[in-house]
Amino acid sequence: MLLATNGYGADPGLVARHCPEIADAVYHGSETSRGDALRIGSALGADTAFLDSYQGHAALAQKSATLVGWATVMHGGYMLDLTGRRFGDETTGYSEYAAVLATRPDATGWLVFDRRVHDACLPFTDFRQTVESGGLVWADDAEGLATATGLPATEVAAEVAATAALARGAGTDRFGRTDFEAPLEPPYAAVRVVPALFHTQGGLVVDGSARVLRPDGNPIPGLYASGGAAAGISGHGASGYLAGNGLLPALGLAFLAADHVVSTEGPR
Ligand SMILES: Cc1cc2nc3c(=O)[nH]c(=O)nc-3n(C[C@H](O)[C@H](O)[C@H](O)COP(=O)(O)OP(=O)(O)OC[C@H]3O[C@@H](n4cnc5c(N)ncnc54)[C@H](O)[C@@H]3O)c2cc1C
Repeated sequence: MLLATNGYGADPGLVARHCPEIADAVYHGSETSRGDALRIGSALGADTAFLDSYQGHAALAQKSATLVGWATVMHGGYMLDLTGRRFGDETTGYSEYAAVLATRPDATGWLVFDRRVHDACLPFTDFRQTVESGGLVWADDAEGLATATGLPATEVAAEVAATAALARGAGTDRFGRTDFEAPLEPPYAAVRVVPALFHTQGGLVVDGSARVLRPDGNPIPGLYASGGAAAGISGHGASGYLAGNGLLPALGLAFLAADHVVSTEGPR
């Protein structure tokens, strides 16, 4: 039997227990990820690992529940909280930054970018959907950006100026961010974002043939796990997910399980 029912992102109790830092975020994954494999495997004596590991995302558009995408940040965008200030190094990653955003006032922020960044991100379907949803506000200058977002004008103006200077190579970012690609130029765009949980990464411990293992390292006969049901190659916490690390164990472990069944039992 191959357990392939994904993780437990849709079970608020399990998320609160294992991934408390992201438990209050919007869950943006499948409603069928209820932790069934975890329950079945555990009842059969399986070992578990990296249950605190998850894929978060710090840029879910609040209005449309569409993904803004982190390419906005990689091209020089940055995030302001409701005080109008930046609050960290956005380039730590979209998964990692979700929990950081979750600690800010009202667990929300504004992702700021410009026309250059907007145009560079248009090839991404998620980003286009966000644009088409009408969730972006535009402003001709920092003062207009503050008005459009409802953020404090003095703080917004200070951050717009400070990040532009950093992007030109002047000074050192107080949060350690080293890459702003290019200074943002007016008109500025902004979209209100909330942190999200996409899926959990930890699960049943498996070996290189996707066999589910007991705590003593011995396989449970006939039991395999793949994808979000298995611990796979997760790390801990938000950084336990790397791009592609959700789909890889879904395909890879299922393939290894099938290969093992065929090699030990022969084709049926
Ligand atoms: C918005 C979003 C974006 C993502 N982007 C990426 C990405 O870019 N790269 C990446 O690698 N990963 C990404 N992921 C994660 C990736 O989608 C998952 O890690 C992957 O789909 C897990 O595969 P799976 O086969 O374990 O589970 P799933 O694809 O969820 O399949 C599980 C199946 O089991 C069924 N099921 C559940 N419980 C039962 C039950 N009790 N009985 C019978 N059937 C059941 C479900 O209906 C479902 O069909 C993203 C996830 C989300 C939510």
